[in-house]
Amino acid sequence: MKRGVLVIGELNVDMIVGGLPSLPVLGKELLADEFHVVLGSSSAICATGLARLGLAVDYLGKVGADYYGDFIIEELRAHGLCTDHVIRDSGVQTGMAISLTYPNDRALITYMGSIPELRLDDIDVSTLENYTHLHVGSYFLQLGLQPQLAELFRAARSAGLSISLDMGFDPYEEWGDEKLMRVLHFVDIFIPNEVEAREIARVADTETALQRLAKLPRLMVVKCGAAGAMSLRDDTIIRSPAFQVDVKDTTGAGDSFNAGFIHAYVFQGLPLEEALRFANACGALSTTGFGGTAAQPTLEQVQAFLEVHS
Ligand code: ADP
Repeated sequence: MKRGVLVIGELNVDMIVGGLPSLPVLGKELLADEFHVVLGSSSAICATGLARLGLAVDYLGKVGADYYGDFIIEELRAHGLCTDHVIRDSGVQTGMAISLTYPNDRALITYMGSIPELRLDDIDVSTLENYTHLHVGSYFLQLGLQPQLAELFRAARSAGLSISLDMGFDPYEEWGDEKLMRVLHFVDIFIPNEVEAREIARVADTETALQRLAKLPRLMVVKCGAAGAMSLRDDTIIRSPAFQVDVKDTTGAGDSFNAGFIHAYVFQGLPLEEALRFANACGALSTTGFGGTAAQPTLEQVQAFLEVHS
């Protein structure tokens, strides 16, 4: 019997500092009202979302042999994930993102550490056949995996898995090359947000980005924040509006959307429009709590939400 999903991705902690009176100033000291240390990583937040929806999820990633590595593994387990494939590497420090959050925006400082250190050599491809679906997130941060991602996806496809890929922001702002285009050929569901889609397609509007890039993967879905999501079928753009909710924090909304879409489209086999609606509900519900994982819904919660909002 196959397990549900294998998520291969980066791992880091998020340190969230809030209630600051201004930006930090050299030579001065600011007092913060709030401080939280939580599980970070876009790929990991998608993985916890999938587990919350009831799927069996294994995580494959790399952390340092340090305190924050222990913390991440505990958090993944607490969210119901199997961590047998999380590698502890004493040669690196666990990655970390420090987020200075202000009411309308945040300033991020990332220490990459273990984040780009996962490589194809770390992955036993013979285990792929144990899963139904493979999800990879944060393409641009996974510098160790990038050169061989097409090879990994080819192996996953041969082993019968469907594949989804999310991008994340490119801190180098190069936004991919031929290598990425080769990777996209192996992808079943490509799920960037609208900024990423436009940057990768090198065009100014999301519709054109969708029309250009959607030829490469089997299906492309673009996340558009408070405007919901869009996709393309037979050259026709399909729009799915977002749900109105009491938004507290949009951190990880895209990752919860991914989890919802994978669950609906791959595991429930819903038609595209219904899968987009289900994913929008997962994204919206996740914004009703602070942090990426706190308000991720169960399957029953999404179904109840959709009934009320039908
Ligand atoms: P990312 O986190 O990758 O940037 P988005 O910000 O586009 O992704 O959000 C992902 C999804 O979460 C959206 O497609 C939508 O379904 C939901 N979402 C995000 N912001 C809101 C909001 N303000 N209100 C309702 N839903 C939202």
